This record gives sequence, C-alpha cells and structure tokens, in this order.
Amino acid sequence: MEQKKWGIIGGGIMGLNLAHQLIRRGHQVTLFEGAPDLGGLVSSWKLGELKWDKFYHVILLSDFRTRNMLKELGLEDQIKWVETKTGFYIDGKLHSMSNSIEFLKFPALGLVDKLRLALTILYASKIKDWKRLEHIPVTSWLRKWSGKNTYDKVWLPLLRAKLGSSYQRTSAVFIWATIKRMYGARESGLKKEMFGYLPGGYKRIIEAVKQNLLTEGVIIKTNHQATEIRSSFSGLPSVTFANGYLEEFDQVIVTLPSGLASEICQELSENEKLKLNQIEYLGVICVAVLLNRSISPFYVTNITDTWVPFTGVIEMTALIDKEYFSGLSLIYLPKYLSPEDPLFVKSDDEIRECFTATLIKMFPELTNENIKFSGVARAKHVMTVLNKGYSDNLPEIKTSIPGVYIVNSAHITDGTLNVNETIKIAESKLKEIIREGNF
Ligand SMILES: Cc1cc2nc3c(=O)[nH]c(=O)nc-3n(C[C@H](O)[C@H](O)[C@H](O)COP(=O)(O)OP(=O)(O)OC[C@H]3O[C@@H](n4cnc5c(N)ncnc54)[C@H](O)[C@@H]3O)c2cc1C
Repeated sequence: MEQKKWGIIGGGIMGLNLAHQLIRRGHQVTLFEGAPDLGGLVSSWKLGELKWDKFYHVILLSDFRTRNMLKELGLEDQIKWVETKTGFYIDGKLHSMSNSIEFLKFPALGLVDKLRLALTILYASKIKDWKRLEHIPVTSWLRKWSGKNTYDKVWLPLLRAKLGSSYQRTSAVFIWATIKRMYGARESGLKKEMFGYLPGGYKRIIEAVKQNLLTEGVIIKTNHQATEIRSSFSGLPSVTFANGYLEEFDQVIVTLPSGLASEICQELSENEKLKLNQIEYLGVICVAVLLNRSISPFYVTNITDTWVPFTGVIEMTALIDKEYFSGLSLIYLPKYLSPEDPLFVKSDDEIRECFTATLIKMFPELTNENIKFSGVARAKHVMTVLNKGYSDNLPEIKTSIPGVYIVNSAHITDGTLNVNETIKIAESKLKEIIREGNF
C-alpha cells in the first residue's frame, strides 16, 4: 500500500476518528479545525469557574464504539455508570416515568392507551427492516399503533419538542431509531436505565484523543477554517483557509455539515450541490444553568406543555456527582429548531431571561437567588431531519472533485445522532473510500 497524504477538514468526533484510522493505516494525516479547540459539538466551555461540555452528553451501555474509543485511551474503566430516572412534565405537573409501576400510575393516559403505548415501544424495538419505515410519516405510524389519544397527549408534543415543525416531514425511522437507542440504555426490557459519564467530561476525552493522535503522528492545525477546496493545476485537491494558509493533498475528507461542505466545494456539480443543500438540518439552542439546589431526581424531564420554550430539562447532576461542580446542580435547557428560526438572532440575554424565567415558573420553589450561573450555547447544524426516502436521496461520499470526499453525520440513516453512530459512520465510510480507491 502506497502512503498517501490526507487532509481532514473538521475536528469533531468524525474528523478525529478518521484521522486516527488513517494514520494507523500508515498514511500521512493533517487535521484542520476552524475553532481554537478540537471537539465540535462535544467541546467544552466555561460555566463560571468550572469547565464542562457545552452540550449534555452521556454514554450508553450499548455505545460499544464510544466505549472502545475510551478503552483504547485507557479510560473505559473510569466510566461511572448510574441508574437514572425519567420524568414527564404534563399540564404543569411533574411525573416520574422510570419503571413499569410508575408507567401504570401515569395519570395522563387510560389503561388501554398505556397498553397501546407500551406495545408501540415494544413493537418498534423489534423491527429490523427500517427501510420500509422511511416511506411512512412518523405521525401516521404513531397514530396507527398508539391510537389518537396517546398520539395527541404524548407523541405529538414530544415530536414538536424534538423536531419543531419538521416533525411533519419526518418518517417513522426517527421514532424507531429513538426507541431502539433508549431500549439499549436499559439493562433489560423496561427495567433499569443506565447512563455513563467520564469524570472530567468530554473535555478530558478530547484531550486524550488529541494527545494520542499527536503521538501517532497526526498534524493538528486548529484556528484553520477552510474556505475553499478545489482541484489544483496538478489535479490534486488543494485547501485554502481563512488565515491565508493553503495546502495540497492526495485526498481530502470534509466532515462539515452538508450545506457548509457544499459552500466550500464550489467546483461540485449543480446536482451534487442540490443534493447537499436539500439535506434539512435542525440546530440547537441550549441554556446551561448552575443552581445551588437540585430541582428533580430526573436526568431527563420530557415536556409536553406547549407554553414551555425549551424541549426538556436535563438535570446533569442527577447523573454526575455534584463534587465536579463545587456542589452545584447543572441543568441544561435545550431547544431544537430550524437554523432559520428567529430565536437564533435573539441575544444571549434575551434567551437566558426567557428560559430561566420559565424554569422558575415550572419549579415554583426556585428563585433567581438560586441561579449561580447561566450561559447560552448555540449550534445551527446539529442533526438531520430523517424525511421521506431520506437514505435514497443522500449524495455520494466521493465527489466529482478528484480526491475529495464528504463524510458527515448526515450519513446516519438508521440511528439517532450520537457519538457512537458518528464513529460507526466514520468506520464504515472510510472502509468504502479505502476499498474504492485501493489506498
Ligand atoms: C445538545 C446535544 C446533545 C447531545 N447528546 C449526546 C449524548 O448524550 N450522547 C452522544 O453520544 N452524543 C450526543 N450528542 C451528539 C454528538 O455531540 C455528535 O454526534 C458528535 O459530536 C458529532 O460529531 P461530528 O464530528 O460529526 O460533528 P461536529 O462536532 O459538528 O464537528 C464538525 C467540526 O467541523 C468544524 N468546522 C466547521 N466548519 C469548518 C471549516 N470551514 N473549517 C474547519 N473546520 C470547520 C466545527 O468547528 C466542528 O469542530 C449530542 C449533541 C448535541 C448538540
């Protein structure tokens, strides 16, 4: 095998994993990240004096690839596994929905509706042929299996919360993949829900990944935002960066969200650009709050009340020991929305005020005095909307620009967005690239 010179654009989990695989195959690899630090969506930020993930992250027992990455870094045995609880906020009240007995006591639904809901989840968890679900709208699939009442009271508010208005264009693959992943979080059936985290959070993981890549010989260039990728006179792909740097490679893999990839690869055909640009993304605005008290025993509280501007309440310290946060409670308030949503142009102060005022309304024992820190994190391109026939409309990873490939999380066709699925795509797509190019 001939050694090739590879450039990887994007230093998130996808780019980091691709760099690791390629250097182990004996190639030369340079990884470029536009931001000052590696990590992308798993990167960390300052919460007052503390540093933790910008967005909430947990590891599931079934996340074998994520666990394997940690094993290679010598960190897997340090994951802390915790049994967590799930809550529902319905009609202004908080309910626990963490085991079968609580499910049976759940007041929002009658016994028949509950039975249909349980059977829907069980049935979904058994489905293997997900491709046929791509052509069924999630709305009709859920209405069919759970019934109108459960759909109106539980599923519809949850779909709106997780997908904004794009739930209307989403196929049943979304709910199947979500149920499949949550089923994997439970030891068996509807019993215990186990989530894991590494003390130090993803900051520690990314630091270990970075050190490992440097030791392996990967060149890492942060603060390098790619602005253009084109064929040079020699026929090889050349990448230009916002800071004026330019480099030529044998092969380049772009891991950016599809629309951004299309923007910097202007030599793509109109058809390729069309395919990349028609992939619909959802972004997230996520307010992180540090409180001097906890608000619930639940890691996740799903919200069905439509007046609440965020999707759920994630009480990170229901999972992570408070000792890592100087005894404070860390709460995330995420809202998933279209990148064009007007909330994206609102100031941090406006968003913070709106979200924290709502939290106080939901948990009346809270006051502003309890809030020790709040900050707003945003990402415009987080996950793709799995719409009708999604996998059939995806662009090829090999582009018409010689030596240029686009591999990103849009290639997750039968799963939810998470680190484990991202690594799975990195592994399977690199195999295809290597096989096809005989590298
Ligand atoms: C709110 C939230 C909660 C989540 N919870 C979980 C969870 O509990 N468990 C889990 O496993 N996963 C979770 N995830 C998903 C996980 O974060 C993603 O699957 C993963 O980080 C995606 O990595 P990526 O490399 O594909 O994308 P990204 O992280 O978006 O990486 C792309 C990188 O490209 C860089 N870039 C962009 N433009 C340029 C340019 N022009 N030049 C150079 N670089 C550029 C970006 O800065 C970024 O670093 C969550 C995500 C979010 C947003």
